[in-house]
Amino acid sequence: MIDHKLAEDLKKRAKEGDTAVLRSAELKSLFDQLKTLPADERGAFGQAVNKLRTELTELLNQAKDEAEELAPIDITAPLDINTPRPELLPSEQGSQHPLMAELATILDIFYRMGFTAVESREIDDDYHMFGSLNFPEDHPARDDYDTFMTTQTDVHGKPFIAPAHTSIMQNRVMKAGKAGLEAGQAIAAVIPGRVFRNEDLDARHEHTFYQLEGVYVDKGIHAGNLIATLKTFLQEYYGKELDVKTQPFYFPFTEPSFELTVSCPFCDKKGCHICSRTGWIELLGCGMIHPNVLKEAGIDPNEYTGFAWGMGIDRLVMMKYGIEDVRHFESGRLDFLRQFS
Ligand SMILES: [Zn+2]
Repeated sequence: MIDHKLAEDLKKRAKEGDTAVLRSAELKSLFDQLKTLPADERGAFGQAVNKLRTELTELLNQAKDEAEELAPIDITAPLDINTPRPELLPSEQGSQHPLMAELATILDIFYRMGFTAVESREIDDDYHMFGSLNFPEDHPARDDYDTFMTTQTDVHGKPFIAPAHTSIMQNRVMKAGKAGLEAGQAIAAVIPGRVFRNEDLDARHEHTFYQLEGVYVDKGIHAGNLIATLKTFLQEYYGKELDVKTQPFYFPFTEPSFELTVSCPFCDKKGCHICSRTGWIELLGCGMIHPNVLKEAGIDPNEYTGFAWGMGIDRLVMMKYGIEDVRHFESGRLDFLRQFS
């Protein structure tokens, strides 16, 4: 049967007028659950789920009616302002931004692979942006990140930083997972977050975009685990068999470091405009976590190894839907956003 608490929570949200409840992961999970049931249980469960959805719709309608009754009427306004003209207004329900909807799908895949999600942050310090990640002071690699900084400084006399990558969370996640690691529980976390770079804007570069960091640490972890994890994720997300290749790269916080290239999901290596006719797409940076980064989090690199990656969520979604310009996401253009609602 449907979990009682889950049903009550959904109803409470509907009563409060939260229209997102009909597209919520919780409601969707019930439909997913349905598919896994034996045939003789499916009918009753399906009916219960449909009944719940009908109830939620009714509760939402009630909430909407109540809200309308409460809406103040401006008696001095001309008639047409007080007369509802829904066809002239944007959709009252609105919709989830495509990046957030896709993020839910992405996280769901990683949950099923045993990862937990940790939220990133939008302002941080020099230590988490660079110091904890094996960027020594004055290291030229710091210049690869065109970071936004505040003029105000912290207690160390350093500016605060708008994170230029979600790797700012690596040290925190590893410190928090250290006790569990020593008790035999791998650190397995994905970290979605908004990041900021002082980029020259064009179809492929935005000053604000989303990344998904991944961190995995345990005994005996090697690069094969890293590649298998990312390949499994990408095949799930794009819903098809893909090939991946790695080429050597440089990041201060991983050793060895790779750039992961994936076979184009649109043309299966034949070459198309999405992959610039090459059949392959350079997708993300990854590598084995540098021993200095493990040490900085209090983890013994002689005993444990791990991998990490950072991928652009905007880029994953652009590839999935063949979106040609990253600036659409932050543009507020309704004609773009409505295609996803
Ligand atoms: Zn292609």
